[in-house]
Order: sequence, then structure tokens, then C-alpha cells
Amino acid sequence: PERLLVQINEVVQSTLSLQAYQLRVDNITVQLELDPELPQTLADPHQLQQVLLNLITNARQAMSEKGSGVLTIRTRNCETGDGSFIEITVSDTGIGIPAQYLDKIFNPFFTTKPVGQGTGLGLSICYGIIQEHKGQIWVESHEGIGTTVFIRLPVISTSI
Ligand code: ADP
Ligand code: MG
Repeated sequence: PERLLVQINEVVQSTLSLQAYQLRVDNITVQLELDPELPQTLADPHQLQQVLLNLITNARQAMSEKGSGVLTIRTRNCETGDGSFIEITVSDTGIGIPAQYLDKIFNPFFTTKPVGQGTGLGLSICYGIIQEHKGQIWVESHEGIGTTVFIRLPVISTSI
């Protein structure tokens, strides 16, 4: 896969602009909290766009069942014992995920959606792409309240 120096905030903005029309149709307010000091990272920007597109689509579908909602996307730089990471979170105020499904949602073909609306591949594709970037992805959700997807990507030092 192609690795370029990527500014994640720009990938977030461009992915959202692709979805702007559909978000408006679904009555969804978008909140952005993008860290202006976010470092760049070596990544495949097209694959990261695919990840964000899948997550935004899930959020949109989860909120359209409620008739409206808020989509919040945050970025920040975080230091952990394992090094420096870029954290991206995608939060929605949708229907949430029942606790008994939480350990299945990354499995290929797991879907709760009617035929034609979901293939069950979105999150498994996200998982594969984030693995290839040596990152982590996990989900926190509360039924009826909403869902947050967390992604951490390693910041690869480019100053040699
Ligand atoms: P699909 O969207 O095609 O069903 P995904 O892999 O994208 O497949 O998601 C798998 C399942 O995880 C969904 O069918 C849904 O039950 C649940 N899910 C994923 N994201 C969300 C979300 N933001 N809110 C509620 N449920 C979600
Ligand atoms: Mg999906």
C-alpha cells in the first residue's frame, strides 16, 4: 500500500464534504473538534478515507432511525506508554449497539440491517486497514444513547 505523509484533519474534512448532502438529508448536525497542532503521519490517505466513510455511514444510519442527531469527529495527539498516537473519534447520537453484539461487530458479514442496507463488511474493512497501519480501533456504545468509535494511529517520526 502507498504510504504518504498525511494530515488526518484534511482527510476528515474531505470525507465529510463527500457526505455533506446525505448528512443534511438525514437532519444531522456535524461538530468538528480537530486539533490544529495535529502532527502528520505516514499512511495511505485513500484507505483512511475509506475507514472514515464507513464510520460516517454507520453513524448516519444509526441516527436516521431517530430522525435527527449529532455527529462529532475529534482528532488529538496523545502520548501513551507505547508511544505517540493520533486519536480520531467518531461519535453519534444514534440507536447504539446492544451489549451482546459488541464483540461481533468487527466480524465480516455481521449486520443487523435489512438486506440491501448493509453487507456487514464496513467495520471489518476498517479493522483490516487500521491493522495494516499498526493502529488500534475499538467501540464504546450505549443502547438508545449513541456510539463512539476510537482509532489510534502511531505517529511515525519523520525527522531523521
Ligand atoms: P453494516 O453497516 O453493513 O451492517 P458494519 O460492519 O459497518 O456493517 O457494521 C456492523 C453492525 O454494527 C451494524 O449492522 C450495526 O448493527 C452495528 N453498528 C456499527 N456502527 C454502528 C453505529 N454507529 N451505531 C449503531 N450500530 C452500529
Ligand atoms: Mg456499515
